[in-house]
Amino acid sequence: MKIICIGLNYKSHIEELNKEIPVQPVFFLKPETALTLRNRPFFYPEFSNNIHYEVELVFRINKLGKHIQKKFAHTYYSEIGLGLDMTARDIQAEVFKNALPWEISKAFDGSAVVHRFLPKTNFDTLQNINFSLYKNKQLVQQGNTADMLFQIDDIIEYVSKFITLKIGDLIFTGTPCGIGGVAIGDELEGYIEEELMFRCRIK
Ligand code: MG
Repeated sequence: MKIICIGLNYKSHIEELNKEIPVQPVFFLKPETALTLRNRPFFYPEFSNNIHYEVELVFRINKLGKHIQKKFAHTYYSEIGLGLDMTARDIQAEVFKNALPWEISKAFDGSAVVHRFLPKTNFDTLQNINFSLYKNKQLVQQGNTADMLFQIDDIIEYVSKFITLKIGDLIFTGTPCGIGGVAIGDELEGYIEEELMFRCRIK
């Protein structure tokens, strides 16, 4: 399986990064080895001094597809989760500066935290889902899917022009504003509406 992550998908986050609004979805990949599953801890890597959390809604692909039209995209997922796109912000700044690929800042072991999934039929609409992240019980990020620049069906249509989607692939849909650093000992908890979706201790 692979993990497809969308960048720059919330205006509030684009503003905090001082970036341009993209005209097409921006995506990158993480390998399977990036997964942190089942509420396991995230191990602070020795190569970074500035690890950030980014809370994001996650869709799980349930059918193989390529060149998927937007009108059929909704048939390619049935579950929604919540995850963390853990990012080595200091390494990312370095590679940006030199216009190098950013995998070492984004795709490292453990950098994709995900736990529970909910059936999409739990929601009346996918375009009004609230989600939030708490660090040590303090609210640090809050988002609503209505604010996504590219909705999941747009993302699936676009990504599948380039890359075949397979069963079990995960799509992280981008983070709203409020990104920030973590320290060893911190506890991160993510919610969709009132449901606890993951709990992750930084070790
Ligand atoms: Mg992200």
